[in-house]
Parts: sequence; structure tokens; C-alpha cells
Amino acid sequence: MRQTITETVTSVHHWNDSLFSFKTTRQPTFTFENGQFVMIGLEVDGKPLLRAYSIASANYEDELEFFSIKVPDGALTSRLQHIQVGEPLTLSTRPTGTLVAGRLKPGKHLYLLATGTGLAPFMSIIKDPDLYEQYEKIIVVHGVRNISELAYQDTICDELPNNEFFGDWVKEKLIYYPTVTREEFRSQAHQQRITHLLANNTLTQEIGLPALDPSTDRFMLCGNQAMLDDTMAILNKQGFKKATSREQGDYVIEQAFLEK
Ligand SMILES: Cc1cc2nc3c(=O)[nH]c(=O)nc-3n(C[C@H](O)[C@H](O)[C@H](O)COP(=O)(O)OP(=O)(O)OC[C@H]3O[C@@H](n4cnc5c(N)ncnc54)[C@H](O)[C@@H]3O)c2cc1C
Repeated sequence: MRQTITETVTSVHHWNDSLFSFKTTRQPTFTFENGQFVMIGLEVDGKPLLRAYSIASANYEDELEFFSIKVPDGALTSRLQHIQVGEPLTLSTRPTGTLVAGRLKPGKHLYLLATGTGLAPFMSIIKDPDLYEQYEKIIVVHGVRNISELAYQDTICDELPNNEFFGDWVKEKLIYYPTVTREEFRSQAHQQRITHLLANNTLTQEIGLPALDPSTDRFMLCGNQAMLDDTMAILNKQGFKKATSREQGDYVIEQAFLEK
């Protein structure tokens, strides 16, 4: 049987009608690698109802943070979206996942490509000082349908660059590239799907980096299955190799959710 622990919700933030984030207490014995996910949920009729969630906080922070969808008839999120400060959250004790830096070969540029709640693991990763040491540039691309889904902009653009320990690295190395497909937003290039941005080199031109190159560029992908399939096809065609459980690679992937 899966071992679980109980934490207490300490804050809740609703981004819009379909997305929210919340933080919980964290027992010191609960350890994880930045980018991993864990099973979380609620007790329903005396049994834990758990779903996979990426941990959006960094592994050195005192609290745990999660970034969640609200599926109107979803077994868990129809309940979880009403969670309040002081209420309990059930967690499994074994975080896991493929979006961890150690699975990538050394490189110069780390591209973190997310759609929707796929941003969650990257919020943890971009708080990792070791990665700023390892990479010259870290690029977060967040693809959403509507502007209101661009969660965590303040954290990325204001909080992290002012972090007292690694803010200077963030200012120098972190590039944030939001893209919105169903509303007018910034410029034409910021209204394209991630796959289009990659396929025609728009992204690298926009951010002033050289065209993609397997000798220097590393990727982490977190999105729906179609986004993963299409992006992998583009990367594979350009000679990038997916990491395996045995061997480091040029990119790693994780589904942001399972489609039924
Ligand atoms: C490795 C992994 C990590 C995950 N991390 C997160 C996370 O950080 N945040 C998060 O909100 N969800 C995440 N999910 C999805 C999560 O496990 C649940 O599916 C989600 O919380 C909905 O649960 P539910 O019981 O309400 O509905 P489910 O019955 O689980 O889902 C119903 C349907 O809703 C859709 N759906 C589910 N999750 C999402 C989503 N995140 N975005 C868009 N559509 C979705 C799918 O079509 C799904 O079939 C992750 C899934 C996996 C496999």
C-alpha cells in the first residue's frame, strides 16, 4: 500500500476560473529533487483520492507549492479547488519523475517548454541555484490559450530577479517567453504554439540565441501528449536525443496530465 502523510494548507491563490495554486506545510523528512512530482489529494469517504502533481516549490523551501487545474467534474479537482487554509492535504511519500537536471548531458542553454499547468515543475527548477551555475541561459516558454492562464509572471519577472541569493544570476540568465494562442498578446511571435516557435527558429531569433544545436542545447518538456509528440518530432529531426533511464540525453519529457 502507498504510504501517505498529511500536510496543512497555508495559502491558496486563484488565478482565474480554471487555475489555482496552493501551499502547504512541509515535514523536514519529505525530500525531493527539483522538477519531480508526487501523488497528492484528499480523504474522500475515508479513503485517499490521489492524483499526480508536480511540485512547484524548490527543494530547499520550507513549504510545498502546487499549481492546479480545476476540472469541473474532475474527481479530485472539483473538490480540491475549494480547499481552504488550515485544511489537510494528503501526500504520498515518494516523489519521482523524469524532469530532473541530472538526466541531461551538460549543455549551455536549458530550454523549459511548458503548456498550461506544465509550468509547475519548471517553477521549481528555475529556483535552483545549481542550474544557474551549470547553464549560460535558462529559457522558460509557457504556452497558454488565454492571457489569464499566464500564472506566476510576478514570481518569474519580479521576485526571482530580486532574490537575495541568486537574483543576479536570474537577471543575467533567465529568459521568460510567454505565448498565448487564443487572444491578442504582445506580438505575432508571442501568439504561436511552442511547436511553431521551434520549427521555424522564431524562438531563438526572438530571444537572441543561436539556432538550436544538439551540442549546446538541452530541453525539458511538460505539456499535453500532442505537444510532447510534435515537439519531440522536431527535436529528433534536428538530432537531439531523448534521455533514457540509463543514459543522459539532450531532452527529457513528462506529461502534464493523462488524457482519458
Ligand atoms: C506526471 C503528472 C504530473 C501532473 N502534474 C499536475 C500539476 O502539477 N497540476 C495539475 O493541475 N495537474 C497535474 N497533473 C494532472 C493531475 O494528476 C490530475 O489529472 C488533475 O489534478 C485532475 O484531476 P481530477 O481527478 O480532477 O480529474 P481527472 O479525472 O484526473 O482528469 C479529467 C480530465 O481532465 C483533463 N486534465 C487533467 N489534468 C489536467 C491539467 N493539468 N491540465 C489540463 N487538463 C487536465 C484531462 O483531459 C483528464 O482526462 C499531472 C499528471 C501527471 C501524470
